[in-house]
Amino acid sequence: MGAFIGSFLNVVIHRMPRNESVVHPPSRCYSCGTGVRGYDNIPILSWLLLRGRCRFCQAPFSVRYCIGEALVGLMTAGVVYAVFVMPSYAPPVWLSELGVDPRYSRAAGAAAILIMVWWLWACSMIDYDHTIIPDELTKPWQLVAPALAVLTPINLMLWSPAPWFETHTGMSVLSDPWAGTSSVLWILLPCLAFLALSVPAARWVYGHFCPEEQRWSDEDHRGFAVGVWWFCAVTALQVIALVVLTMVAESAGPRGGVVASALVPYAQALMGSMAGWMSLYVVGLLGTMAFRRNAMGFGDVKFLAPIGAIIGPTGVLYTFFLASVVGAVVGIPVRLLGKGREIPFGPFLALGAVLAVVFGHQIHAFIFGGLAI
Ligand SMILES: [Zn+2]
Repeated sequence: MGAFIGSFLNVVIHRMPRNESVVHPPSRCYSCGTGVRGYDNIPILSWLLLRGRCRFCQAPFSVRYCIGEALVGLMTAGVVYAVFVMPSYAPPVWLSELGVDPRYSRAAGAAAILIMVWWLWACSMIDYDHTIIPDELTKPWQLVAPALAVLTPINLMLWSPAPWFETHTGMSVLSDPWAGTSSVLWILLPCLAFLALSVPAARWVYGHFCPEEQRWSDEDHRGFAVGVWWFCAVTALQVIALVVLTMVAESAGPRGGVVASALVPYAQALMGSMAGWMSLYVVGLLGTMAFRRNAMGFGDVKFLAPIGAIIGPTGVLYTFFLASVVGAVVGIPVRLLGKGREIPFGPFLALGAVLAVVFGHQIHAFIFGGLAI
């Protein structure tokens, strides 16, 4: 099934940046135009049986299609294995409190993680090919990711707000949902105010510190402002949802506990989304001022916010750190060898996120093992 998804993602990766429909027309040979027959459209196998050529005109099909199908198939199997077999995966607490069968909780968690993994793959490959991540693949995801995050506990693996609220506010987030919600609002609302003020500030920064040839056009500035305002609007909606759910949890009496335990991963996701956006955004603005050249990859900013929603604020820091390390290991030799092509950061962010999820626990213990945080 993963390979079939990989086959569909090949179509998305090829067509979406060209502004073509991903469902119509059906796949065809780019050389002779003959439609690909259903029996020739079986992932991996068809490519191998036809030895990577069109059945009719013998034009070669890139081996990348076959590798993409195989990799997505392997990643899908890996996620399903990790969620259903590995003992370290525990379904979200609120689903078990609701009395949902653990098998369904695991299936929901696996689905949420898979959607994110498939999305990371498509964004990375498009970024690799075109050094751009389409808005269609980032803006809606800023809205969807926190909802997906509530279905999977991977965002809680490094740092959970529940004990933090209890040790820092003396209140339990489960018995008093406002203890957690108001703490989150104290962080998110100033961030939103900062973002609103940063739109004119960014215009000034790019006007003053960018060399002439890197200056943004008016259209670039509009796209930038729309991107920032979109994220602010999405986050504001999610904050309102958080407040409403907190009121529900409070008024539902003893049964409100379930809502409150679902609020913990939801609040975590909103903080992660903001951390993902802010980290690259602030680094981009400060870097532009410090180095007097355009240091903002705005596509990466829009991309890291949904990643942060899934893996949480601490996960974002590790993602950023790991992406930079891997990016330097790969990027510096490529630069030194003089292969002048601009290296996109998106694939490294995706890889960093996967590494953070798989090895984050060990890295976290290694760095903070001796400290009581
Ligand atoms: Zn052909």
